[in-house]
Formats: sequence, structure tokens, C-alpha cells
Amino acid sequence: MSQSAVVPVVVDAPQHAGLNATLDYLCEPPLPPGSLVQVPLGRRSVTGLVWRRRLGDSADAPQLRAVQSGMPSLVPLGPAWMQLVEFCAGYYQRSIGEVALSVLPPELRKLDDAQMARRLEWLKRSPAPPATGEGVALPDLSDEQAAAVEQLAALPAGDTRPTLLQGVTGSGKTEVYLRSAARALQQERQVLVLVPEINLTPQLEARFAERFAGRRLVSLHSALTPAQRLRHWLLAHLGLADLVLGTRLAVFASMPRLGLIVVDEEHDSSFKQQEGARYSARDLAVYRGRVEGVPVLLGSATPSLESWSHAEQGRYRRLRLAQRIGGGALPAVRLLDMTALPRPAGGAAPSALAPALQQAIEQRIARGEQSLLLLNRRGYAPVLFCGACGWKSGCPHCSAWRVFHKGDRTLRCHHCGFSERVPRACPDCGNLDIAPIGRGTERLEEQIAQLLPTARVGRIDADSTRAKGALQARLTAVHAGEVDVLVGTQMIAKGHDFRGVTLVAAVNPDAALFASDFRAAERLFALLMQAAGRAGRDAAQAARSEMWVQTWHPRHPLYAALKAHDFDAFARGQLQERRAAGLPPFASLALLRAEARSAEAAAAFLREAAQLAAQLQGHEQVRLYPPVPPPVSRVANVERVQMLVESGSRAALQRLLVLWLPQLQVLRSTHKAVLRWAVDVDPLTI
Ligand code: ADP
Ligand code: ZN
Ligand code: ZN
Repeated sequence: MSQSAVVPVVVDAPQHAGLNATLDYLCEPPLPPGSLVQVPLGRRSVTGLVWRRRLGDSADAPQLRAVQSGMPSLVPLGPAWMQLVEFCAGYYQRSIGEVALSVLPPELRKLDDAQMARRLEWLKRSPAPPATGEGVALPDLSDEQAAAVEQLAALPAGDTRPTLLQGVTGSGKTEVYLRSAARALQQERQVLVLVPEINLTPQLEARFAERFAGRRLVSLHSALTPAQRLRHWLLAHLGLADLVLGTRLAVFASMPRLGLIVVDEEHDSSFKQQEGARYSARDLAVYRGRVEGVPVLLGSATPSLESWSHAEQGRYRRLRLAQRIGGGALPAVRLLDMTALPRPAGGAAPSALAPALQQAIEQRIARGEQSLLLLNRRGYAPVLFCGACGWKSGCPHCSAWRVFHKGDRTLRCHHCGFSERVPRACPDCGNLDIAPIGRGTERLEEQIAQLLPTARVGRIDADSTRAKGALQARLTAVHAGEVDVLVGTQMIAKGHDFRGVTLVAAVNPDAALFASDFRAAERLFALLMQAAGRAGRDAAQAARSEMWVQTWHPRHPLYAALKAHDFDAFARGQLQERRAAGLPPFASLALLRAEARSAEAAAAFLREAAQLAAQLQGHEQVRLYPPVPPPVSRVANVERVQMLVESGSRAALQRLLVLWLPQLQVLRSTHKAVLRWAVDVDPLTI
């Protein structure tokens, strides 16, 4: 057998392949790297990918087995794609095979070569959109937009320093993306646009589709049917799609002619994958740009502190859009001091809205303008309570309260999903008078309808938009002016270009000021600034647009920065605190999580893991904190414990993880009570 007929293959089975090793197979005729293959593994047959190089010491197996079938009709995945996957696997500590196969469309595994060949024929013959467009009238750029577009166009080829486009809400960042995309398309290159949640901002997709009407645009996100996802992926992979618009998984789209990557709302936490390989699509986009020699444009009004500090240090180029389109003002921020309000008599629950805010909304309604009320908590009330015996609606399976949903009369756990009909009487003492405590969006909607009986009130949150098409319908109603007051969670704060909104109010945002997670303030500030950015987007109305904040802490520095619309001041303050506390971006973190039926079993695993780490080379550069339960420690009867691993040096942390994790796989086998364990590199929440 000739040596050239042995190929290295990755499969999605780390228990066989080791964390980052390839398996050798005989292959006649040899298939090139990047080819999909079907290979025997133990008694099974699994899908694998011929890899670009041999990794680990999987050779010298006494009997090489042969590849069962290949898919030669499909162009192999390219070396840059494989390098991205290898980097992702290495950095986030997963196997290459797992990453490679999990980011490909699942349908790919179900087809044989003949089926694939037919599909490709059909795709290549399917007509491209009619070549209209590109002649459509373009808006005149604002001076700032023009300067940004010009600087981006002047980048020398191969300059891969990422660009942070820091532009206030309504400053027209999208137009800068569109112009940069147009340039790349003119040069026959493909454009990749990453967005946080595609369903939330259908406008963005519509604007790209309209601007590039003669081009083929495909979307890639998890709401596609498997067949759509395969089709879109193939169009990108074959180079037939010019634009790919997608959520985090689209960062792995195979694009042979890639010429530009845009990451819109780059600060958004949904770019971080929360299971399996816990990658950050934003960070991978930056890596991908460097590998492929392609410019990366990160856009936000409220950049992540990581990106912002890169820009401060000059590692990223920064372009600013400080003015709103049309010169409109940003909304005036009004902090409503709730401590100064008279308390309602007789212990009655306070009104949802302070009188001044209610009046301001009534004025908006009288003028035919819209108001948004932000409350980041869904359901009717976060807990039900029995005043007679003290019973509360706890979840029997989690260390959390079950939320009262009035619409379907259920008590529902937002952690494990356990749901029951709401009891008529207290389950413990039979008292008929059990009361909802606190307020979620459902209750706020009801209270607003009572306070403002003539208003047309709408609500957008995960519950009200569960049905297919419901979100689109509700957004359309807001755009059409059929809603006077829109109540909602963070879903209403993001990206929407609502033209009729002149008032935004955060009803009760204080909790995040005192959360234990060090990123809570950053998230709150971004949320409030984004929410404020929904008001006054029509320049004609901007001058009287307002952002109200109902707070018991009106003198908190976070609110002072919000009032001044000064993201930079906020970022500087936060970074000072982070530097003093040794937190990201001044340190690198990983979180080791373990789950077991008992917290003690999970903690025992972590403690032993820490002992192993202490014997590894380079451990003195890494600090391990004692295992602690996360805020909600028990979910679905499983106890969770986590251990924070920190280092001042990213490289030192990475070196330790590489040595440590294989040991943990072994350690796990002696801790039978541990159900799952995982490491999260660069965790977003701790
Ligand atoms: P951002 O994403 O920065 O919040 P958008 O890109 O949504 O802002 O732009 C805000 C609004 O301004 C949109 O309605 C957009 O169509 C409009 N717009 C952007 N650039 C221009 C321009 N140069 N001339 C006129 N209108 C523009
Ligand atoms: Zn009771
Ligand atoms: Zn539960």
C-alpha cells in the first residue's frame, strides 16, 4: 500500500481521537484535505473530514482501516477554514472533529455523493437574482460616514488590523457597512455580516437585500430548516452567494472569495456560544480576518470593553460616528428619583410608573408619538406568595422561584421549564389569598392598560412572540404606528429603527447595579444606551425625545455617564476598576464547571482538579479560586459548582489548560458522581 494513500481524518468523537489528534485511514484514491468522508470507527460508521495535517500520534495502528466512502463531488473545505477550526478547538479546548462537524450543516452528513452531485447541479443552475439594483439611488453620506468609508477604502490590501466603528445610535453605521460591502462586491469578493439575532432585526437583512438586489444574499442561522441551511451553506461554499448574513455560527461559513467581515453590535453577548465549544464568534471573526487577510469591521454604539480598550491602545483602528443622521440630538436622559416619591398609603403596591413619567407618556399619546417601556423580566410576577404561611412558588427541581404567567395561568420555572397550573389556594395551608410579588412584562402591560385606558398597548418578549411570525407581526405593528406604548424585555432595545418613538423608559433597572457578575454594569449600560437609542431616530422629533430611568440610586456613576451619553467615560471608569481587581481585559479567565446530583460531589471533583493543576508546569502563573455555586446552583435536580481560573497572561492560561484538561478527562473516570464537566474559556458570565 503506498504511503500517500493514508490520510488523517478528524471525527466527532474525542473519546477515540484524544483531544486534538487525527485518525489515519487508507484512502484509494487519496482524497484531498477538506474532503468529507464516511469512516469506520469501532463498530460504527461516522462522518469525518480529511484533515490538512496529521496531529497527535495516531499513526502506527497495527491495522489501518479504509475510508468507506467520500463525497468527491463537493469541493473540499479550504485550508483557511481548517485553520479557523483548529484555532477554535485549541483555544476553547474542544476536539477539532467536534468543532469541524458541529459547524457544518447537519444535512451534509445525510447525503451520499450521488445525491450531493445532483443537488450541486441543481444549485449551480438555479438562477441568480435578476441583475437590477446597484443603480439604486444612494443617500448622501454624512461627513462622518464619508470619512469612515474613505478610510476603510484606503486600507492597503492585507492590512488586517480590525476596525472598531464606534457610532452613537442612529449615526448610520449600517450605511458604512453597506458601502464597504459594495466595494468588496465590486472586487468580486464575498461579504460576511454577523448579527446577534437575525429575527430581531429583519430590517438589516432587508436593507442589504434592497441595496444589493442583483446579488445573491443568503442567511445562516439556527431558525432555518435543515434543507435551507444546507442550501445556503452550499451557495456560500461554492462562491455563488455574494453576501452571507448570519448569527454566530455563520462565522464558520466556508467562503472561498471572502473579502470583508462585518460584526454588527459586536458587544452583544449572543455572539458567545453557550454550549459545546463555547466560542466567541466576534473573537473568531477577528482571527479569521487575520488568517485570510480580510478587513474586519466591528460596529457598536457600546463596544465591549475588550474591543474598546484594543482601540484605546491602537491595536484596533477606531472610526467614530459621533452625530446622529440629520443632526438630531440623542434623547435627554431623565433620572427619576424613586426615593423622593411618597409611599402609597396602607402598604399598597407602588404604581408601575411615577406620576411624572405617566404624564410624559400621556403627552406622547396625545401627540401621536410612541413610547417604549423596558423591563427585563418576563412573566406576570417573579414569585407567588402566601401571606398566611409564608409559602413561595419555588421550583421543586431548582434553587429558583417559579414565575407566575397569567396568560396561560401557569407557574413556570425559567431554568428547567417545569410548569404547572397555578394553584387556586396555597398548597401548604389552603389560604385562598396568594399574591403575586414583583412585576414582569405581562403585569406591566396590564398595569399600563389600566393607567392609560385609551392607549393601545403592545408587548414584545419571549412569551408573546413564541408563535411563528408573532415577532414579525408585532414589530410591523409598532412600525405602522398601531401601538402607542410598547412594553418589552431587552428584545425591544436592540437595533430597531423605530421612527415614531420619542420616549423610552427603563422601569426598574437597578438590580443589575449590584449584581455579583463583574460584567453586569457593562451589560446594563449597553442595554440602557441601546434602549435610549430607539428614541428620536426621526431627526424632526429628536429634540423632544427622552430616556427616563426610574431608579432608587440616581447618583450612581453609571447613570451619570448615561445622562451624559458618555460611553467613553463609563468605559474608562469600568476599566480602572477592572485593572485594580485584575479582571478582563487585564486578566484572562476560564471557568471550570462540574455538575452532579450533590454539590459536594461536584466540588470534590473541582478540588481534586485544582490539586492536579498545582503540579503542572507553569501553574504559578495561574490562580485557581475555590469552587463556588453559581447564582442558581440547582437546575433540574442537578447541582452545579464552578471554579474560576485566572491568569495575567492569556498564553500562560492556555498552556496550563492544554496540560490540564486531558488529566481532567482521566480524573472524571474516578468521580462517577460527576454528570458533566466543561471548561468555558473567556466566560461572559461568572
Ligand atoms: P445605527 O445602526 O448607527 O443606529 P442606522 O444605520 O440604523 O443607525 O441609521 C439610522 C437611520 O438613518 C436609518 O433610518 C438610515 O436609513 C438613515 N441613514 C443612514 N445614513 C443616512 C444618510 N447618509 N442619509 C440619510 N439617511 C441615512
Ligand atoms: Zn399558605
Ligand atoms: Zn426548575
